[in-house]
Amino acid sequence: MAWKISQSPKATKVYVAPGNGGTALNPKLENIEITDVQALRVWAQENKIGLTVVGPEAPLAAGVVDEFRAHGLRIFGPTKAAAQLESSKAFSKAFMRRHGIPTADYDTFTEPAAAHAFVDRLGAPIVIKADGLAAGKGVVVAMTLQEAHDAVDFMLVDNKYGVAHNDGGARVVIEEFLEGEEASFIVLCDGKNVTALATSQDHKRLKDGDEGPNTGGMGAYSPAPVVTADVHARAMREIILPTIRGMEKDGIPYTGFLYAGLMIDASGHPKTLEFNCRMGDPETQPILMRLKSDMVDLLGAAVDGKLDQVDLQWDRRPALGVVMAAHGYPENPRKGDAITGLPADADDAVVFHAGTALKDGVPHTTGGRVLCVTALADSVKLAQQKVYDVARGVHFDGAQYRRDIGYRAVK
Ligand code: ATP
Repeated sequence: MAWKISQSPKATKVYVAPGNGGTALNPKLENIEITDVQALRVWAQENKIGLTVVGPEAPLAAGVVDEFRAHGLRIFGPTKAAAQLESSKAFSKAFMRRHGIPTADYDTFTEPAAAHAFVDRLGAPIVIKADGLAAGKGVVVAMTLQEAHDAVDFMLVDNKYGVAHNDGGARVVIEEFLEGEEASFIVLCDGKNVTALATSQDHKRLKDGDEGPNTGGMGAYSPAPVVTADVHARAMREIILPTIRGMEKDGIPYTGFLYAGLMIDASGHPKTLEFNCRMGDPETQPILMRLKSDMVDLLGAAVDGKLDQVDLQWDRRPALGVVMAAHGYPENPRKGDAITGLPADADDAVVFHAGTALKDGVPHTTGGRVLCVTALADSVKLAQQKVYDVARGVHFDGAQYRRDIGYRAVK
């Protein structure tokens, strides 16, 4: 987002908090070492920041938007209350049920015995989700009853995600397994008006062929052919608009990016897997490479409630991004490996950084997902080739990446 915003002639200076090795290397960006919400607000006032946009979920859940707004600062994102659509799965499932928004059937549990009984009643496959933020790693899609019971014990008895919960005790959502193909449907909302971004598809599993554990996302491309014009219209009519209207009705008007993770069945019927209150990673990289419109105009219109006056322009070419992850990701990512072979940005190929930092001027790994190599080309297949050509030249010890990102679209 910082890369895209900095291309606007209206952005005289772009600060990134806290930033990473990639934003540190970009001469148009400057990192600031602050993550505390109050300290950020004070810094924004002192430095007369014209517009703030929130990338990840943690500051939203910590109330950064409430804090900025209370002091008259312009910021784009949902309030703490509205961000519960992402930060609490129990909240978002109850919200969807209340407003008739299609999603998997479910129930919420704090008692292990009741959760185990529900698992036995529903049978496998079945999905167990920790309530709270777990960076995409709090979900177990259990193919057998044994896996499901183990997941319940892991989350409720051992409370392995205890720190992620916002109201004390451990809580899980257990839901029906949905079949189909996933897509990411991301829109901007200014409280009333909604503008959809280009569609995309993420690859959640660690390994080729969608095998291995769930991750925060190993690669993505845009547009997603599974979102036909008909599916798009249904997603807007049945999911996005009822969500925005429902939030308004509940007295928590929604502003910000809204990301609906969709499961689209064979007949083209979309159901909501989850909401995120931000753009997705790694969907953002291919989507923003395709966005031709000025990002500062877009975000400014969103903050001012004027999204109805915006007409987004897209590059017709597809874009594709492949995540290079650290050794040991997702369970136990190793930090501190030096990264070499990074190419200069080109118009049609950019290596976006995630978990990196500079050490003596050299980028090193600092987290699970390290880089996202992203390219635009005339077809998904050509974008894939371009990305893998670049990725082969980039090195860090133990790097892991999938070799099949975009395979559904290519097929
Ligand atoms: P993230 O925020 O990283 O997308 P999350 O922890 O909020 O992840 P979900 O999106 O709810 O978790 O689930 C993660 C993945 O698990 C989904 O992308 C999907 O592949 C699978 N999944 C979740 N719910 C279901 C379901 N009901 N049926 C089938 N698969 C599911």
